[in-house]
Amino acid sequence: MSSTVVSFAEGSLRGDSIVIRVEPIGDAAVVVVEATPFHPVDHTWPDQPGDAGLISAGGDSAAVSEAVMAAISDEGEFAVGAEIPVRRGADGWTWLVAHRLEGAAPAWLTPGAQVRLVVDDARRAGLSRGHTACHLASLALDLAVAELWRKDPGEDALGAPDFEGRANQSSRIHEDGSVDEYRLGKSLRKAGFDTEAFAATLADRETRINTQLAAWVASAAESRIVTDGPTIVDRRRWHCDLPEGEAVILCGGTHVDSLAAFASITVTLDLSDPQLLVMTTTAVPVA
Ligand SMILES: [Zn+2]
Repeated sequence: MSSTVVSFAEGSLRGDSIVIRVEPIGDAAVVVVEATPFHPVDHTWPDQPGDAGLISAGGDSAAVSEAVMAAISDEGEFAVGAEIPVRRGADGWTWLVAHRLEGAAPAWLTPGAQVRLVVDDARRAGLSRGHTACHLASLALDLAVAELWRKDPGEDALGAPDFEGRANQSSRIHEDGSVDEYRLGKSLRKAGFDTEAFAATLADRETRINTQLAAWVASAAESRIVTDGPTIVDRRRWHCDLPEGEAVILCGGTHVDSLAAFASITVTLDLSDPQLLVMTTTAVPVA
């Protein structure tokens, strides 16, 4: 078995392939094919949910509730999602996209079957907007707090001090938005970030981020994914040609083709727990 070939990075929403494994899991099942347009949720950094859609053959079809990661070890151990005992890309494992069905696999869905895979396009488009908006908001946040660093924390994708890389502890993307959490504890202060000045100017920082995001949306910059290879385990990077320069970020998700896809992107900052900044990003698509 070889790693699953994936086409979501080019924006594909459908494809034809051959079933190579069907694995019952409780009263449901997962289906693995040779090549798929479905984007799976990552098991180690589950920021973007997996695609949903349909697998069909002839007149039959089965609903896919979510595409997830699966892996099979050289010894034959098959594991799905959170049960995978190693990080993505670890040696000794083959990396697969598994399509989680809502129930047991129907009789026609067996290894060797020729199937058509169709992704729910409205959900994919919403998640792509949510993911691009999430990256832009984090870049705008880095710029909006840049002068609060007393030491150099390293650079982000636009050369600004990398608040995102230092403080982000979780990122959850949904259709047309995301929620990011940043740890503002002792270690960030030790790294040279002025958390007191940040807290005292929170509303101003939020305004700066939203002004920056409005300018980026107005730029209608091109956005795309560049891959190192055709399979799920090959590295992928998001590129965006912003007026300040090209931003390049390692990223396994899906994205819009252009920032012209947005009517607006805005954030709200919440510091009700002084140790935890919550940034909520909301994207509005063009009508
Ligand atoms: Zn990403």
